[in-house]
Amino acid sequence: MEKQKGKLFVISGSSGVGKGTLLKLLLQNNPHINLSISVTTRHPRRGEIDGVNYFFTTEEDFLNSVENNEFLEWAEFNGNFYGTKQAYVEKTLAKGEDLILEIETRGALQIKQKLADAILIFILPPSIEELEKRLRGRNTEDETAIRNRLKEAFREIECSKDYDYRIVNDNLEKALEELQSIISYK
Ligand code: ADP
Ligand code: 5GP
Repeated sequence: MEKQKGKLFVISGSSGVGKGTLLKLLLQNNPHINLSISVTTRHPRRGEIDGVNYFFTTEEDFLNSVENNEFLEWAEFNGNFYGTKQAYVEKTLAKGEDLILEIETRGALQIKQKLADAILIFILPPSIEELEKRLRGRNTEDETAIRNRLKEAFREIECSKDYDYRIVNDNLEKALEELQSIISYK
């Protein structure tokens, strides 16, 4: 009998909304779920490790991979390229394992077109003011990057209407519960 394929979850949400925080907790509670590691041309932030947070690469290598059709999806975000390797996604799902991609909206919508079974989840902030507060509180971006990320936030929230689920990350525990119930749904 053919092995049942794993499920693909795509999680998006504006920078600073709490995706990383939620995913860390979700993966602690669900160690069987895989988190895809993206390729990016962005420079590592303090504490980020190559091969753990991202595969950090040059623009030249990234564009070579685009030419060679190695990406299931890719997008430019805030002046940097980000992409998901197709081979890794195919291999993981074929093994019957579930997989989460944490990617921005343009990439997520490319995935939905290619893989109609993918489950798209968008994390919303309780308000734009709270989003700005969290982004500043994280202390990882300079003023220009914060401004750009807030501008992107409006565009991304607009795209969230095409997602299967939307979760407001106001109370962290409640948002985690909602995410857990979507992931566990058979
Ligand atoms: P993202 O991965 O979406 O960019 P992070 O997970 O880095 O966001 O979260 C940004 C900041 O917001 C972090 O300092 C985090 O501790 C905080 N945060 C996350 N979720 C909540 C929440 N529900 N309430 C208050 N602060 C939160
Ligand atoms: P950051 O620079 O804050 O790590 O990520 C910026 C944005 O890029 C986030 O919205 C994140 O979800 C998105 N992102 C990360 N990896 C990928 C990827 O492989 N593809 C796409 N399309 N977006 C990604």
